[in-house]
Amino acid sequence: MKELRINDVFWTVQGEGQNAGKRALFVRMPFCNLACSWCDTSFNTFQKWTEDRFKEFAQQETARFAVVTGGEPMMNKDTPAVIKWLKDLGFVVACESNGTFPIVEGIDFVTISPKRDADYHIHESAWQKANEFKYVIDEGFQWEVLERHDLKDGRRYSLSPEYNRFEKSIAEILEFQRKNPGWQISLQTHKWMKVP
Ligand code: SF4
Repeated sequence: MKELRINDVFWTVQGEGQNAGKRALFVRMPFCNLACSWCDTSFNTFQKWTEDRFKEFAQQETARFAVVTGGEPMMNKDTPAVIKWLKDLGFVVACESNGTFPIVEGIDFVTISPKRDADYHIHESAWQKANEFKYVIDEGFQWEVLERHDLKDGRRYSLSPEYNRFEKSIAEILEFQRKNPGWQISLQTHKWMKVP
């Protein structure tokens, strides 16, 4: 029987972005190609999940909304199979990606979180498929990277204060937003709710 390597699977609330507040099955895929200073995920470990065990866990609750994240799910060869398992059960599937790899087929809502540097390369596929771009505003954020976006293209554009320097980051965002109201604020509400 096929087994997939998954970092973690758990039920919680999506805390941020356009789907904030929804009950969600979170599926964390292991491994990432980046090493962000604020990363709060231990993504280098995994457990093996059979299809039966995964689907049994996914049906423990009645919500049918899932968030596939990581690590970086788009670099993981097991991500297409995870999405298929979720789709078999009727889930609406959202994915969160750093945007450096092609986006896997079959995802209903794609959030791309590029990093702050001006030379950060967003894959063409991520440009095309993103429903939402979300930037974490951290120390030394290079605001000029935001100028590459066309805010009139119908997607959601948001800025998220880095939680560990929340007061500084939110002040910077509020100041920026006064002149750039096309950017929304995305808070990590799960941290206030103290849910994973
Ligand atoms: S891209 Fe995401 S998972 Fe990877 S190191 Fe950065 S914050 Fe962590």
